Amino acid sequence: MGPRTHGVIHVIQLQHAAKVFRNEETRQHVQALEDVSLEVEENEFVCLLGPSGCGKSTLLNLVAGFERPTTGRVLFERRPVTGPGPDRGVVFQEPTLFPWLTCAQNVEFGLRSLCRDAGDRRQIAHRFLTLVGLDSFARARPHQLSGGMKQRVALARVLALNPRALLMDEPFGALDAQTRDRLQDELLRIWETHRKTVLFVTHNVEESVYLADRVAVLAPAPDSIIADVPISISRPRDRYSNEVREATMALMRVLADLPCCVLPSGASQRGVHASGAFETPQREEPHEWSMP
Ligand code: ADP
Ligand code: MG
Repeated sequence: MGPRTHGVIHVIQLQHAAKVFRNEETRQHVQALEDVSLEVEENEFVCLLGPSGCGKSTLLNLVAGFERPTTGRVLFERRPVTGPGPDRGVVFQEPTLFPWLTCAQNVEFGLRSLCRDAGDRRQIAHRFLTLVGLDSFARARPHQLSGGMKQRVALARVLALNPRALLMDEPFGALDAQTRDRLQDELLRIWETHRKTVLFVTHNVEESVYLADRVAVLAPAPDSIIADVPISISRPRDRYSNEVREATMALMRVLADLPCCVLPSGASQRGVHASGAFETPQREEPHEWSMP
């Protein structure tokens, strides 16, 4: 159980978390995150939105336990995060399946540490492949699947571990629009029936509005979370409704003024301080923030 504040249980907490990476080759320090505080309640669906390079993956990796904060604290259910654990299921943009294993074996593999009995593992894998609509592909291998199907297997593998939270890093970013829409709906269905806490990273404004209870907008360091926007549109949502469009436009306005970190290779970045001086980044072409 997470800490209760006025009846609210915070599952994920970042308290003034900062992360500095050091590039051993160039000896530059990269301030990926600076003084980020964020709380995610139990069963809440929070999207972390921001331009490329602003530190979204770094933040998620801190919660996942793949990285440690340079300063500040990262707590999961009140305890400091010291490493990855089965209580936090991570889904990446590129599904990392073992190509030599079948779909079922991929799901079963993740269960080995939690469940000793092979028969039980098989049953659980079957249940979760069914949940994502892939029971008939249990014996297929990843190369026989489309990108969306692979991502479904990755999701089944994570859900089979029954994590308390799902940490998703642009999980649908590499999919075509139609497949992405379908997987968003599937994720919402699963989230509504299995009640998980979700931290979902995206740079796609519409996606964040469609999915989230709340959108936290992350700006590049030295800025932090510059807006925390509740999305109170009732569910199930209609992605083509005026409400969704208006909320999307309002968020796009917030993002329009943000600097972007994507620079040609070799160029300096905001937040990169080899000599202590900050440089203003160039603006990226605004395609990611343009109207649908
Ligand atoms: P986003 O996910 O928002 O695109 P990231 O969290 O991946 O951003 O990266 C934030 C910043 O930190 C970028 O400038 C990136 O180059 C830098 N960075 C991320 N990981 C590392 C690393 N392991 N070593 C050095 N720099 C890193
Ligand atoms: Mg990223």
